[in-house]
Amino acid sequence: MESHANLYATVDLGAVAHNVGVLRDRSRSDVIAVVKADGYAHGAVPVGRTALAAGAVALGVAQLCEARQLRAGGVDSHLIAWLHTEETDFAGGIADDVDIAVSSPRQLQRVIDAARSTGRTATVSVKLDTGLARSGVSPDEWEATADLLAAAVAEGAVRLSGVMCHLAFGDEPDHPMNSVQSARVDAAVADLARKGLTPELVHIANSPAALTRPDLAHDAVRPGLSVYGYSPVPDLGDFGLIPAMTLETSISLTKKVSAGQGVSYNHTWIAPHSTVLGVVPAGYADGVPRALSGRLEVLINGRLFPNVGRICMDQLVVDLGPDGGGVSEGDRAVLFGSPAADRAPVPSAKDWADGCGTIDYEIISRIGSRAVRRYVNDPLGETHG
Ligand SMILES: *Cc1c(COP(=O)(O)O)cnc(C)c1O
Repeated sequence: MESHANLYATVDLGAVAHNVGVLRDRSRSDVIAVVKADGYAHGAVPVGRTALAAGAVALGVAQLCEARQLRAGGVDSHLIAWLHTEETDFAGGIADDVDIAVSSPRQLQRVIDAARSTGRTATVSVKLDTGLARSGVSPDEWEATADLLAAAVAEGAVRLSGVMCHLAFGDEPDHPMNSVQSARVDAAVADLARKGLTPELVHIANSPAALTRPDLAHDAVRPGLSVYGYSPVPDLGDFGLIPAMTLETSISLTKKVSAGQGVSYNHTWIAPHSTVLGVVPAGYADGVPRALSGRLEVLINGRLFPNVGRICMDQLVVDLGPDGGGVSEGDRAVLFGSPAADRAPVPSAKDWADGCGTIDYEIISRIGSRAVRRYVNDPLGETHG
């Protein structure tokens, strides 16, 4: 089946394992690998298993259903999920032994109710809003949350696992807010201690803080982006991280066109001379931003060729030049990848992000499901279908 696909997101699991090692070394701390959004679109189960084998102590996701999909995929590690709604099936999460991070006394109450109704002890973490003002227990609800937690632990409905928060300025390592947020976590942990509660795992650092502020780590860091090999603070270097994903395909069609021929919708590019075009079967439905039309390059046989005309839903066109650039139908075409692994001037997801005013997080996490995930260099030696 795989060999008949047009488009592949090839994921180097050896790179994932290497990146987890970089994060453990730099943070001098344990790693909770974040595999939300299907592992930033790399595949949550294979990335999660690889990260755990490389020493990660837990996996983090946003939604409980993401954690339950990891369980269904055979992952038996500590799993933390931190974003819920009224619809969230807490009883199912408790049954699957997921660490449920709550953001309000109301969420905590619903977890307690689910624990009572199932007769099982829920594993709970507290997500604090220490300044990001997104999810997390707000300061004015902290006391009520802590009291409810203490009562629920005493009753046996709940076991306290962790205390966590998320940084507003993690990518500005010296911003004073980082230490402010860390101190607020310490104050909350002290409040819990006065109630006789001790969390097992306190964690606040995302990728940039994990790499640049080991002093903020507490018990573990909680990186996502850097697990996949991208530097969250590129101005400070790549930290030896290796991008794991290569988005690659093969040339679908080549054709000659004459001078004056407009290319793709609305003929936004018109051939200035006769030339050879190559059709690349990848488009915006696959996560190639349409905003990069005419501004991205594709690596074919070690050379970069420019996209011309509009990027479409399923395909884009490159100009191979009057002599066709030596490119044949079927030749491998790399849209982005890892410069180190390809030993060629391959574009990176960061180049794409810079080209259309976004961040590499958005580029990688939006690679579509039509790109077949293919796993290479698996340190666990497993084969993936
Ligand atoms: C996404 C997320 C992370 C990981 O952030 P990166 O910047 O990708 O390292 C960590 N914690 C929380 C709460 C998140 O939502």
